[in-house]
Amino acid sequence: MKFSQTLAILIASALLFFSVRFLSNSDGTGRVIDSTKLLMGSFVQIKVPIYGRVDERSGKKAIDKAFEEIARLEALFSAFKEESELSKINRMNANETFKPSAEVFDLIERAIEYNEKTKGAFDITVKPLVDLWARSKNEKKLPSHADIKKELTRIGTRYIILDKLNKSVSFNREGVKIDLGGAAQGYATDRAIKVLKENGIENALVNLGGDMYCMGRKSKDEPWNVGIQHPRNKNKLFFEVRLEDKAINTSGDYEKYFILNGTRYSHIIDPRTGYPVGGNVVSATIIDDDSTRADMLATALCVLGREGLGAVESIKGADAILIIKDKGALKIEMTRGLRERYAVQEK
Ligand code: ADP
Ligand code: MG
Repeated sequence: MKFSQTLAILIASALLFFSVRFLSNSDGTGRVIDSTKLLMGSFVQIKVPIYGRVDERSGKKAIDKAFEEIARLEALFSAFKEESELSKINRMNANETFKPSAEVFDLIERAIEYNEKTKGAFDITVKPLVDLWARSKNEKKLPSHADIKKELTRIGTRYIILDKLNKSVSFNREGVKIDLGGAAQGYATDRAIKVLKENGIENALVNLGGDMYCMGRKSKDEPWNVGIQHPRNKNKLFFEVRLEDKAINTSGDYEKYFILNGTRYSHIIDPRTGYPVGGNVVSATIIDDDSTRADMLATALCVLGREGLGAVESIKGADAILIIKDKGALKIEMTRGLRERYAVQEK
């Protein structure tokens, strides 16, 4: 990876990281171990409050183990490391077979399942289009309709063949590639939480570049409080929500995008058209039982917009908050029942 690319990713992830914030509790009491590392191209922050059976030493040890786990996953899922399992999969010709680790196989399988549940909006075969638009960003030149049409011929999860018995992967079409950019961070967040639990932690907050999981509570008296930044004003919050044992994930057009000839192009691609999403969605936040699914659904909802709220409602445990552009103003739309289930405070 070139230095400029690294820097761009760092800046993007730094922005994203700070777009979702933990809000400090009003009483200001209670000590919290707060540790940050750069992993998977993002800042990863883990907070563990010191109370109950957890002391400074056991808390720090658990956090180190969670960071080690994320580093292990980076080696499997990185799109930039040539030796990652994902890179190996993406070097396959049609009808070649690769047997990845069971967890890589399982994540691909789950992503395909959510392709169906999101009417095709979440699609990990979108990589050729992601690469095409990345080139266009670098060269400051839009791709032609013909280029997009050509790439669209290798987009579709039907081109991924999973052998469930042997847990191996192959493609039945030349040039198919997998992009786990919309799921791997969520998965790593879930794994980090699992490792913290295995190490005796019952209360923690993991923030992997904006993908968050709130385990337990911040203190005996208060749940974790998460603030979502105003999409057009970094110094303001748009809403705040109190969460306990829930993941929260935001995707949007305001952290990673590029502007060409006055138009803003998102890093999320509509797999049905081949173009970056350009509707009225500013951001999509998913609150869910696990972070992997929240990550995938947030990306999907950016593609589907308010028509996707029904799809999220039909998934048990998942809720959504959309910020929509409406005649020049920003408006919030939510899944039914979200306000009753969570304390959402609009700012
Ligand atoms: P972030 O990178 O900010 O966490 P997302 O979780 O929404 O944002 O993931 C966006 C990434 O997912 C893109 O950078 C790209 O690699 C990939 N991607 C883009 N469009 C889609 C899509 N329609 N379905 C699945 N993955 C996508
Ligand atoms: Mg994400």
